Amino acid sequence: MQRIKNYINGKFQEPKADNWLDNYNPSNGEVYSKIPNSDEKDIEEAVIAAKKAFPAWSNSTLEDRSQVLHKIADGIEKRLVELAEAESKDNGKPLSLALTVDIPRAMSNFRFYANALTQFSSEAHESVGKNTINFTLRKPLGIVGCISPWNLPLYLFSWKIAPALAAGNCVVAKPSEVTPMTAFLLGEICQEAGLPEGVLNIVHGLGANCGQAIVEHPQVKAISFTGGTKTGEHIARTAAPMFKKLSLELGGKNPNLIFADCNYEKMLKTTVKSSFANQGQICLCGSRIFVEEKIYEKFKEDFVAEVKKLKIGIPSDAKTDIGALVSKEHLEKVKKYIDEAPSQDAKILCGGNLVEIKNHEKGYYLEPTVIEVKSNHCKLNQEEIFGPVVTIMPFKTENQALEFANDVRYGLSSTIWTSNIDRAMRLSNSIEAGIVWVNTWLNRDLRTPFGGAKDSGVGREGGFEALKFFTEPKNVCISYEAY
Ligand code: NAD
Repeated sequence: MQRIKNYINGKFQEPKADNWLDNYNPSNGEVYSKIPNSDEKDIEEAVIAAKKAFPAWSNSTLEDRSQVLHKIADGIEKRLVELAEAESKDNGKPLSLALTVDIPRAMSNFRFYANALTQFSSEAHESVGKNTINFTLRKPLGIVGCISPWNLPLYLFSWKIAPALAAGNCVVAKPSEVTPMTAFLLGEICQEAGLPEGVLNIVHGLGANCGQAIVEHPQVKAISFTGGTKTGEHIARTAAPMFKKLSLELGGKNPNLIFADCNYEKMLKTTVKSSFANQGQICLCGSRIFVEEKIYEKFKEDFVAEVKKLKIGIPSDAKTDIGALVSKEHLEKVKKYIDEAPSQDAKILCGGNLVEIKNHEKGYYLEPTVIEVKSNHCKLNQEEIFGPVVTIMPFKTENQALEFANDVRYGLSSTIWTSNIDRAMRLSNSIEAGIVWVNTWLNRDLRTPFGGAKDSGVGREGGFEALKFFTEPKNVCISYEAY
């Protein structure tokens, strides 16, 4: 069994208090690794290291920073299979998904910001005053905190760290305690890539002490957080009196609006994916499906038939579509929603049962579940379940579809299936969401802003948005003598 260590000041070290946590492999319920149960003393050391590293890193040339980030991307690429296997064991996701999505994306995050940082320049303009010129510098913030969840571990961890480093900051980062392994391996990759010591510090532990200590630390100037809305609220409250900059990527309950005039085959195939990819544990999954009345019965029958074909299996099996849920606690939480369905006047159309897999009887497996609901106001449609559970419900008109889509506290993403361009435009304009996909899903261009409206978060990641977040604009106005 592996012992994961903290990566502080360029070295791997044990937690100061010698406290450890068990980390489980969801596919068989066995302990996979021991991880540091770090506290504020470990965070203090990480902050001291980051502070020491900041002057040199923030003054390094863009080319130098770009080169190191490219080397980190190279390191991820070289260790793709090892990282994907670790991610799959830690998280329960199909290995095929980790190999084709999670780890390649982590590599692209570093590659993208290695290139983007050289294009992110300060703006200069003639001033309105006579013989003056203005320019705006983008200065790194200093030490920043990056805190990430378990569903796309290295993918999201690197999505924060790469732009923070690119912008010249030093980072204290905490991955989810449930999926720490690839973050630990990233430390090794950064060490090999020659990232100067103290520039990135990776500290493992629980949210309530280790994460909280990052948020509370007065030297940490900004927090980039992805996780649950409740945790986001708590972080916002803690950080507000210190006027910290916050980027909060929170929960979702995304609508998938299906109109009768859509490309049916493409919609059906994609909707199965948008419902159950990564066991439905992607914040962008379309967990509320609304279908135009005309095709509702047909869709219901076809969708359920397709969902029944999905193969539930151990994550390492190449044929597996649905792997294990991330933890026993999460499995129980998701199952409770399913068990409560009948009391909400909702009908389980397929799935809903725990699955026992031979030789993996203690794994956290659950059938992909489709539930027909009568109202958009039921708990199943209003609360984020974050598992392999979707609801379906018919709508009569475009206006009613829009009303259902927006009648929820979240506003992360939405999907619209229609061949009517006017309707696509009308809905894209009116849906309360940070991301709208029309006739596609999870199509991501790293240059575009990413984030949610309403209770799905504050701020945007991606492209120059993240570089803006991790920098402070400073306007300089110079008056000069004319000839
Ligand atoms: P979580 O909020 O429980 O934990 C996220 C991270 O925050 C973990 O590293 C955790 O240790 C840490 N944390 C917990 N309490 C903390 C505290 N008091 N101070 C500082 N850090 C603390 O979320 P989770 O269960 O790991 O992830 C699932 C959630 O993440 C879902 O709600 C999902 O929608 C959301 N998510 C959102 C996005 C997005 O981009 N909007 C992407 C992925 C996941």
